[in-house]
Amino acid sequence: MNILIIYAHPNHKSFNGAILKQVQDHLDLKHTVKLLDLYAEKFNPVLYFDEDHRRRDMAVDPDTQTYRDLITWADKLIFIFPVWWSGMPAILKGFIDRVFASGFAYSYKKMGMAGHLNGKTAWIITTHNTPGFLTPFVQDYGKVLKRQIFSMCGIKPCKLTSLAHLRGIDLKKRQKMLEKIATQASQL
Ligand code: FAD
Repeated sequence: MNILIIYAHPNHKSFNGAILKQVQDHLDLKHTVKLLDLYAEKFNPVLYFDEDHRRRDMAVDPDTQTYRDLITWADKLIFIFPVWWSGMPAILKGFIDRVFASGFAYSYKKMGMAGHLNGKTAWIITTHNTPGFLTPFVQDYGKVLKRQIFSMCGIKPCKLTSLAHLRGIDLKKRQKMLEKIATQASQL
C-alpha cells in the first residue's frame, strides 16, 4: 500500500514528533511510505484568488501540483497534528484549502457534491490537552476533517485517534499512548 504521512507540527522534538517517529518506525516494510512535513516544506497556507488566479483553475495550479500528485499516489493518508483552538493548525487548514480543490478532490453535482478521492482511506492522529471525557462534547478536534472534509471527498473509512489530556497525564501514560500508536501502525 502507498502511504502518505502528512505531518503538521513545527517541532520534531515534540510529542507529535514522537508520534511521527512511532508511525514511521512501525509501519510494515511491505508498504511504500512518503512523508509530507508541512513546516519543513514551508508550505504557504494562504488561499488567494482573483481575476488572474481564478478559483476554477485551482485544480491545475502548478504551485500545488506536487501535493495533488502525492495524494493521487497514496492509498492511505495519515495525518498527525495537535489541536489548536479546537481545530487543525492553520498550515494544515491552508493545505486543505489549496490542495483539496474543486475538480481535484470533489466536484459539484446538480444536487450536492461528488467525491473524487474514492478508494483512499485515512487515519487522523491528533493530540490535545482537554480531558478525554469532554471531547465528545466539543466541536471539531479532528472531527471536521473526518466527517465533513474527507467524507465529502470520498475518503473512507477514516479512523480518528484523539490523544487527550496531554498536560494532565504522567509520563507513563504518554508512553503507553506511543506504544498503542506503534501497535496500530504495525497492523496497517
Ligand atoms: P509537547 O508540548 O511537545 O508535549 C506534551 C507533553 O508530552 C509534555 O509534557 C512533554 O514533556 C511530553 N512529551 C514530549 N515528548 C514525549 C515523548 N517522546 N514521550 C513521552 N512524553 C513526551 N488544547 C486543547 O485541548 N484545545 C484547544 O483548543 C487547544 N488550543 C491550542 C492552541 C494553541 C495555539 C496551542 C499552542 C495549543 C493549544 N492546545 C489546545 C494544546 C495543544 O493541543 C497541545 O499543546 C498539543 O496537542 C501538545 O502536543 P505537542 O506535540 O506540542 O506536545
